[in-house]
Amino acid sequence: MTSKKKAIFLDRDGVINKEVGYLSNPDDFELIDGTIEALKLLRKKGYLLIVITNQAGIARGYYTEDTLKKIHNKMKVILKKKDVFLDDIYFCPHHPDFTGLCNCRKPQPGMIIKAQNKHNLDLSNSFMVGDTLNDVKTGLSAKCKTVLVLTGYGSEEHKKIYSIKPDFIYENLLEFAKNL
Ligand SMILES: [Mg+2]
Ligand SMILES: [Zn+2]
Repeated sequence: MTSKKKAIFLDRDGVINKEVGYLSNPDDFELIDGTIEALKLLRKKGYLLIVITNQAGIARGYYTEDTLKKIHNKMKVILKKKDVFLDDIYFCPHHPDFTGLCNCRKPQPGMIIKAQNKHNLDLSNSFMVGDTLNDVKTGLSAKCKTVLVLTGYGSEEHKKIYSIKPDFIYENLLEFAKNL
C-alpha cells in the first residue's frame, strides 16, 4: 500500500504570475516576486505542486490552446532555471456561454479530482491557493484546505468575504509557504 501524497493546488494568474487579464502572449508572463522561493519551500515541506487554472480565453477565442502551451512552456523554463519543477498543470479551456457546461471549470472540483486520481492525493491534507473567492469555492467543494492570497485580484476579493470564507489569508504565496 502506498501512502497518499499531499499537494498544493495553485491557481496560476495572480498567484504564480502577475494578473494581466486573459494572458495571451508568452512575453507578458511575469512571475510575482517571491514565487520561486515559495515553490521551493512548499516542495521542501513535502507537497506536490499542481497548477489548476481556468483558461476561458480559449473558449472566447482570445488565444489558442497552442499559445497556452507556449505560455506554460515559458513558465516551466523560468522555473527550471531555478530548479523548481511543477508536478502537473491542469487547465479548463471552456466557458459555458461558448462551449457549454463542463465539469472542470472552477469552482467545480473537476481538475482537482482528476489530479487526485492520477497522483493518489489526500485532499484533506492538501491546499487550494487562489486570488479569488472562486478558487476558495473550488477548494471547499473538493474538501481541501483553502488559502486566499492578496496578490492579483486578492485585495479586492478580500473585501467580498461573507459566506465563503477561506481557511487562511496571506499577503502572497511566499507568506503562505513560510507559515505552512
Ligand atoms: Mg487568479
Ligand atoms: Zn472545463
